[in-house]
Amino acid sequence: MEAEKPTTTVCTVVAIDHTSLYYTVCSFCERTLSETNTTCNHCTRNPSALPQSASGSKRLFRVLMSIATETKVFVVVLFDRAARVLFGSSAQDFIDFAKHHPFSANRLGMYFVLVAETASKILEGEMLRVTLSKPKNGNAQHQRVVSVVPLKSGFRPVMDTLREVYGVRAGC
Ligand SMILES: [Zn+2]
Repeated sequence: MEAEKPTTTVCTVVAIDHTSLYYTVCSFCERTLSETNTTCNHCTRNPSALPQSASGSKRLFRVLMSIATETKVFVVVLFDRAARVLFGSSAQDFIDFAKHHPFSANRLGMYFVLVAETASKILEGEMLRVTLSKPKNGNAQHQRVVSVVPLKSGFRPVMDTLREVYGVRAGC
């Protein structure tokens, strides 16, 4: 079966699934790891055998975003490269920020939800030009965003706004 050509469209962000913004992969082969799994099933590396300074896993963005075009509302998925355009940081930097922002200290376990909710609200209503590709894998539910361009002049990535909202100067 021939893959359909990617399509480009202008859309508005309706919402982001802030409960699931990233996933964890093996640092060596970049295949998915579960949060609790310290051994990669895909390659022979065992991250837990590394010295503590080295990390055997890393976080990448995988963001489900509901968008509205002129004709319909539907959910698309942004993987790391596209999501970085909107967030203005790596997934790991975003998670570290969420963990360390000043309001999170006494809300055990809630830090991430709060910051992720704020991130979602920041992006709601943004106009984007997105290029979408149909999933090659028949099991994948959502069209994938292969490239994204914010249309608002002076668009600021999520991390810029978060730093301002939470009173953290850039570079901290
Ligand atoms: Zn691996």
